[in-house]
Amino acid sequence: NQQIILAARPTGMPDERHLVLQEAPMPEPTEGEVLLRTIYLSLDPYMRGRMSDAASYANPVSVGDVMTGGTVSEVVESRFDGLEPGDIVFSHAGWQTYATAPGKSLRKLDPKAAPIRTAVGVMGMPGFTAYVGLLDLGQPKAGETVVVSAAAGAVGQVVGQIARIKGCRVVGVAGAEDKCRHVVEAYGFDACVNYKDDDFEAQLDKACPDGIDVYFENVGGKVFDAVMKRVNVFARIPVCGRIAHYNQTELPEGPDRLIPFMGKVLVKRLMLRGFIQTDHIERQPDFLKDMAGWIQRGQVKYQEDIVDGLENAVSAFQGLLEGKNRGKMLVRVAED
Ligand code: NDP
Repeated sequence: NQQIILAARPTGMPDERHLVLQEAPMPEPTEGEVLLRTIYLSLDPYMRGRMSDAASYANPVSVGDVMTGGTVSEVVESRFDGLEPGDIVFSHAGWQTYATAPGKSLRKLDPKAAPIRTAVGVMGMPGFTAYVGLLDLGQPKAGETVVVSAAAGAVGQVVGQIARIKGCRVVGVAGAEDKCRHVVEAYGFDACVNYKDDDFEAQLDKACPDGIDVYFENVGGKVFDAVMKRVNVFARIPVCGRIAHYNQTELPEGPDRLIPFMGKVLVKRLMLRGFIQTDHIERQPDFLKDMAGWIQRGQVKYQEDIVDGLENAVSAFQGLLEGKNRGKMLVRVAED
């Protein structure tokens, strides 16, 4: 059994000093548990937060523990009624090749219904985040302009496509030319602008001639600042993530901008709302039904970025924080 443990808490970008690959004994299931073989490990930005002991909505991983993570796994031994060897399940087995888990904590997947890896992507947590964040918090109406950052990523690509389904003008923001092209050509975004271009703000003006009604916030930083200059009265801003700041070690210098920011919140009557997808679990059945239908009808497409081998998980995770991924980031830990 191989596992990657959190050996030390990182400052800035995590690397192999903080995330250490080690051999461990094969775990054995007790009564009510199953032994799982990891097939796909999902890599997600929230994992950076779990490496830090700063106060958050979830407890950090303890130093010395296996890094947490959602997985698609195969049952190889079962001491739980209702799961058999060969069954494929969604679990939280973490960054390791084998794990045990209580059978009742696992969700069985139907490999005939959808590719199994979509359970950690478009049909799983990132897709669900896009669904509740956009529909319940963003409340987009036909004809409105929706802007989404990290537009080509796991959450962003789904946000834009749902907004299109709802009849909105959809503008993506991403950090690479090919990502911008992809979201327009493959997902039907109306436009996508590259925040790394010198004329980014002029491009955003051109892409949003009627201002911005919904901003699905994934990144913070300069993208947030640029969007805030262009929001319309009564705009809604679901605050989903702030990835530009996850590796930040100190606050930027400069004037305190809180007072003008709160002035804008008041004058424009903005609705900013942070959310964590786990708080909206009652919407899961609606999500699964809607998303399955949209995928079947070709209204939602998706892109995955798959890296082979647990030994490549650390560099893949660094790439995710640097924008190297093209779509939902996954590690294929074993053949499916
Ligand atoms: P992505 O697949 O979008 O990958 C992360 C992307 O973030 C990178 O590809 C990169 O794209 C972008 N990025 C990285 N650094 C910066 C930066 N400095 N400025 C702007 N963009 C940057 O990840 P996910 O779709 O899984 O997650 C997107 C966001 O959603 C994250 O902030 C995550 O924390 C959040 N999230 C929140 C949840 C919740 O419940 N609230 C649940 C799930 C995710 P680019 O090339 O465009 O820079």
